[in-house]
Amino acid sequence: MLYNAPHPLEVKILSRRFHLENSASLDTYLASDGFVAFKKAYEMTPDDIINEVKTSNLRGRGGAGFPTGMKWSFVPRSSPKPKYIVVNADESEPGTCKDRVLMENDPHQLIEGILIAGLAVDAHAGYIYIRGEYRYLIEVMEKAIAEAYSRGYLGKNIAGTNFNFDLYVQHGAGAYECGEESALLESLEGKRGIPRIRPPFPAVAGAFQCPTVLNNVETFCSVPAIIRDGGAAYAALGTPRNGGTKMVCLSGHLNKPGVYELPLGFNLLTMINEVGGGIPNGKKLKAVVPGGSSCPILKAEECDVAMDYDSVAKLKSMLGSGGVVIMDETTDIVKVALRVMRFYAHESCGWCIPCREGTTWLKKMLQRIVDGHGVPSDVNMVNELAKNMLGRTFCPLGDAAAMPTISYVEKFRDEFEAYVRKNPIVSSELVSVG
Ligand code: SF4
Repeated sequence: MLYNAPHPLEVKILSRRFHLENSASLDTYLASDGFVAFKKAYEMTPDDIINEVKTSNLRGRGGAGFPTGMKWSFVPRSSPKPKYIVVNADESEPGTCKDRVLMENDPHQLIEGILIAGLAVDAHAGYIYIRGEYRYLIEVMEKAIAEAYSRGYLGKNIAGTNFNFDLYVQHGAGAYECGEESALLESLEGKRGIPRIRPPFPAVAGAFQCPTVLNNVETFCSVPAIIRDGGAAYAALGTPRNGGTKMVCLSGHLNKPGVYELPLGFNLLTMINEVGGGIPNGKKLKAVVPGGSSCPILKAEECDVAMDYDSVAKLKSMLGSGGVVIMDETTDIVKVALRVMRFYAHESCGWCIPCREGTTWLKKMLQRIVDGHGVPSDVNMVNELAKNMLGRTFCPLGDAAAMPTISYVEKFRDEFEAYVRKNPIVSSELVSVG
């Protein structure tokens, strides 16, 4: 299991049941405030539920950080069409594995969050779209759903109320692109997982062209605590405009890598040195990817930062999906850049040229540099090519490939140039790049 022993600096809201015996069972859930929030939400108006979520300052935990309450308010509740709740469980961002532990350890918390969203927007059916590689989690969720149906927490007259809701699991085929919400919806409908032209956005025309709330697993899991304890209490856990806690996945050069729940605004260096147990073998910190592979890298001297959406954005990076990758002084950044680009070139859906061709050429150029065949102009060309992809692709995957690449070159340019100097055919005149 990825989830470690609890750390004293953790604030356990979403992970509060992880260490209970049979934490995934409905009995354990019911014995620890399970469905209390649903019953409370049932007595509230939809507007009151949405306002409570707005008060909590909950922002989408999939990476974009869009305010959740506002997203829910865009759903036209008066529409005669059915409304749907769709859960993005297509967790594929390298460095990120927190939705996995949330579903594995407390699936009923996710179900309760989905039901509350259903009450908020008058939806009576939902889908959990799970990435193909998480096959074992499909069984976990299907078992939890079956248990909820058998005990009256899904289906008709949920928990003795007049509210009906059906929930289904859909599995993807393992495409990173299907984490993009409109590509996910295409795949959910049985079509090729490529993005849709927007607008209209999913709130108006989502699953089956009907109004849809589409959020990440962690976002829905945060909702029961917000309704149970109040949005203001949840907001107070974080920083202004960045409410609550965040599941962070610490990986890389650390003594205690793992998934931890920390308040938004937690200091990154404290996260590394105290929660993650520091860097092994007395090595120095070199750099950190703060929120998954699509986020621009931070140099060691930038890491004394509060980990919330706004503070990390001030450093021109992103909190992203919570995948914090620690790199010590021995890390070869050029090889990191190549490894990341190999991923994006592989995962590009090929729909639009700047991404399809751009990621392929970046991969080839970075491979050439790593192989010792680079020429001085390659360093600038990698940077310029990545910059030319920015904002010119059909969906955010193109930006996700370009943004970290630009940061690698601009913050560690000397390492790229050192590789070029290794090329035996590069003359001493040519190597005066920079
Ligand atoms: Fe596909 Fe990439 Fe274009 Fe997105 S940016 S539509 S993944 S080719």
